[in-house]
Amino acid sequence: IYSNPITLENDPTRVIGVVIIIQDITEMRKLERMRKDFVANVSHELKTPLTSIKGFVETLKDGAGEDREIREKFLDIIEIEVGRLSSLIQDILLLSEIENKKNIQVKELINVNKSIDEVIQVMNEIAKKKDIEIINKVENKLPHIYGNNGWFKQMLINLIDNGIKYTPKQGKVIVEVYNNIQNLVVKIKDTGIGIEEKHLDRLFERFYRVDKARSRQVGGTGLGLAIVKHIVLSFNGTIEVKSEINKGTEFIIKIPIEDIEHEG
Ligand code: ADP
Repeated sequence: IYSNPITLENDPTRVIGVVIIIQDITEMRKLERMRKDFVANVSHELKTPLTSIKGFVETLKDGAGEDREIREKFLDIIEIEVGRLSSLIQDILLLSEIENKKNIQVKELINVNKSIDEVIQVMNEIAKKKDIEIINKVENKLPHIYGNNGWFKQMLINLIDNGIKYTPKQGKVIVEVYNNIQNLVVKIKDTGIGIEEKHLDRLFERFYRVDKARSRQVGGTGLGLAIVKHIVLSFNGTIEVKSEINKGTEFIIKIPIEDIEHEG
């Protein structure tokens, strides 16, 4: 590597050595900081519902529970907070599973059309309750892809679920999937509230939310898009997002299909 000392003065090997060490430490520090931030965020996110549950249980025990109406109201809140904790724990476990296994997973052949149909059927029920229409623009006879089918479906669920959560009543979530020869292209588009451009870069970070209160209110854990990003990476794919305030948001995923084509 250092066979051509002309470009460097004096002792080239030493200079290069120093540079490499500095980069290493910077990278390690960055990873360490990210890990610490994540642990701090998780602790905070877990503590919020727990503190609330603890408070309501104590108030109930102190006598508030004697009034039937108050008791019902407090128990409803406790139930919601328990649900929140449970979703959060599920998402943390899923994210860590995907991160740990994405390079060593056993890949299966995924029947893309079948998986998408199953997801749309389930999501239709959720959309109907909010008076939102899911529009199916999925091409027939899509090629099969290799990967984890459960993760592939989870990726679609998270994106369609966000579309439903951040779209007002009577809006639409459009699911468009086609094969452009090199890639399986998945587009999930909604007619919702949209996202300001300044947030788009950070959207896939863990616990990054545009509006924390709104996300909580619609039942978000703040991990949905981080999970989507890691699933897309497990398929060697790419994801991009386009959005316009009060018009809607579109997520575009491209998963390479080149070496699967001849397998049928
Ligand atoms: P959350 O559980 O909060 O929905 P996500 O990781 O799924 O977390 O999304 C991160 C944030 O990105 C959300 O809090 C929301 O502000 C924004 N967001 C995601 N999807 C959409 C969408 N389809 N329309 C508008 N905002 C969205």
